[in-house]
Amino acid sequence: MHLKDIIHRCRQHAAPFRVNHGHKFRLKDHDPAGTGHLHERDKDKAKKDVERSVGALSQLQEMLYAQDKWAVLLVFQAMDAAGKDGVIKHVMSGVNPQGCQVFSFKSPSNEDLDHDYLWRCSRNMPERGRIGIFNRSYYEEVLVVRTHPEFLKKQKLPPELITRHLWKERYEDIRNFEQYLSRNGVLIRKFFLNVSAEEQKRRFLDRIEIPEKRWKLSSNDAKERQFWKEYMAGYEDAIANTSTPHAPWYVVPADHKWFTRYIVASAIVDALGSLNLAFPTVDDAKKAELAQVEKALLKE
Ligand code: ATP
Ligand code: MG
Repeated sequence: MHLKDIIHRCRQHAAPFRVNHGHKFRLKDHDPAGTGHLHERDKDKAKKDVERSVGALSQLQEMLYAQDKWAVLLVFQAMDAAGKDGVIKHVMSGVNPQGCQVFSFKSPSNEDLDHDYLWRCSRNMPERGRIGIFNRSYYEEVLVVRTHPEFLKKQKLPPELITRHLWKERYEDIRNFEQYLSRNGVLIRKFFLNVSAEEQKRRFLDRIEIPEKRWKLSSNDAKERQFWKEYMAGYEDAIANTSTPHAPWYVVPADHKWFTRYIVASAIVDALGSLNLAFPTVDDAKKAELAQVEKALLKE
């Protein structure tokens, strides 16, 4: 299939999960176990589609790199065990590692806490021509920090700045930050992998059961489950307040990993496809230069 057709199909597949305007966004309208127009029996077909998307992504990334104009920022947010790491691994598997940068944001360090909360993210923005992946991001500020106000205390903010408008202001700042980035040639796509509490529990139990998975689970992960409702309220507000056409959220069902990967891969192909990428063309002076080089090489 031609690259243009793959991009077109990917756009269609990902579109139902894209949020461009958040004012009507409700998490309850999104089923974590959803598989869109597909069924369990289409799983193998979906996996083949992911492979095709990965191939397309590799081609698009070569052009992105050669063109050296746009940067692409992919933000991944989710509850534990929703499958962030697996999605990143699978979807980016065909991409030249030199064109891709992954950053994982854990609890902030002392140095991070001596700065504003966007600081550690701004210093890790992808360069032009590259794809940057944020495994967690500045959105933790309006998710984990909002859920646990004790983290806010650690930020050493001047107390008079902590008002009841704080979260509203944070959303506004994030919107402005993303607006600023996109006006500077950073294409932004954000993914919320929407796993259900029941499926998370199943995956945690699996992690205890299977020796190769044990390292992944900490007691803290289980503790955070108790704040499920608060986190979901946080996600709903964040998505409602920060979805824009230039930095949309994708709310991706995450109870079935094959479907999550299918949608994320499609959305990323769509994103790069929207840039009208092409290899830079060579001007007459450059052509003449190359002809000289060719002549010299053939003469050797
Ligand atoms: P992950 O959970 O992303 O797969 P991990 O298990 O290797 O990665 P953790 O040590 O669990 O890494 O680090 C992620 C933790 O850091 C999460 O609990 C997250 O909420 C927390 N975190 C990230 N950013 C912040 C922040 N700005 N303030 C407080 N905690 C944060
Ligand atoms: Mg963790």
